[in-house]
Amino acid sequence: MSFLPFTRPSIDEETIAGVGEVLRSGWITSGPQVKAFETALSSYFGGRPVRVFSSGTATLEVGLALCSVGPGDEVITTPLTWVATTNTILRLGAKPVLVDVDPVTRNIDLDRAEQAVTPRTKAIVPVDLAGLPVDRDRLYAIAGARRLRVVEDAAQSMGARWKGRRIGSFGDLVSFSFHANKNMTTGEGGCLVLNDEAEAALAEKLRLQGVVRDADGGMDVDVIGGKFNLTDIAARIGLGQLPRLEGFNGRRRALARMYFERLRPLADRIGMGLPVADFEQSNWHMFQVTLPFAQLGLSRGDFIRAMHAAEIGTGVHYPALHLFSAYRRLGFDEGDFPHAERIGREIVTLPLFPAMQDADIDRVANAMEQVLLRQRP
Ligand SMILES: *Cc1c(COP(=O)(O)O)cnc(C)c1O
Repeated sequence: MSFLPFTRPSIDEETIAGVGEVLRSGWITSGPQVKAFETALSSYFGGRPVRVFSSGTATLEVGLALCSVGPGDEVITTPLTWVATTNTILRLGAKPVLVDVDPVTRNIDLDRAEQAVTPRTKAIVPVDLAGLPVDRDRLYAIAGARRLRVVEDAAQSMGARWKGRRIGSFGDLVSFSFHANKNMTTGEGGCLVLNDEAEAALAEKLRLQGVVRDADGGMDVDVIGGKFNLTDIAARIGLGQLPRLEGFNGRRRALARMYFERLRPLADRIGMGLPVADFEQSNWHMFQVTLPFAQLGLSRGDFIRAMHAAEIGTGVHYPALHLFSAYRRLGFDEGDFPHAERIGREIVTLPLFPAMQDADIDRVANAMEQVLLRQRP
């Protein structure tokens, strides 16, 4: 039996051939493929302006910069996310204000977010963990009442919906990642959905050193930008992925349903936490369970190693980020966000990707039963 990774991208032969054509074309960095990819993404998001970037992290950083987040500003977000969410806030000189998560959705608790607003708050950055959308009605009600910007970290929720509307097709700034592990990929990359063409023009400048060129071959730099542009090689991969996204997500949803059927008895027996069973809105970026390791008498490392020995890959997304040493030095400590800390200790990501076979669900569930029930008297 071959090793089952926790995720794997699905790249078709047509896309591989397309990348070959880009390589042979003589133009491999940002060019016609980037333009075509941005046009396709814009129509996917209902006509809103879209710009692509070299990573979801770059995309977030530009999004925050467009809100003029900087020194002295506070940005409210969750401690249970990939650390890019808060690193970008810190790199702009602002202060990440963390609030605990809802233990059921594992997403930011918006009641706590509202209580954390101060006169220094510039923006809220919600994260749709595993592709389960944060409540957009409540989010924008808070942002509207308090006059806050929102940079949605939708890195994981490409193709997810809120009450039938595609994430990214409404709201303020919406940031996606096309990292290899995300529901659609460009290898590395990301895109930002913007409000208007003026904002898009500024995003383009921030993406490439702040340069604006004029028709006479001259240029000016009136704002300090970075080097965040996407290559045509990567954009061509994205053009091959976007039309397949709905199909990918449908397959993920079907596999997630099978996991629920297969894992519910085990969950009831050992106190394993399952994700919210949302088959309308989530894009099922990940299927994550929480295991009460202390009660089970084994460590997460033991579990991961035992699964690996059974040829099954698992992941940890994520430990609560305020307990990383660089964040403790900012004053965060154990006990600050108990729900995020417990979930961060207990969470495990199970294999879920479009090319998985139905039988793989049984394989994972059987191995989990072996490993977890073996510990019981
Ligand atoms: C993947 C991810 C990012 C960063 O995206 P990259 O493309 O890896 O830079 C940011 N936030 C979250 C929640 C992510 O999952």
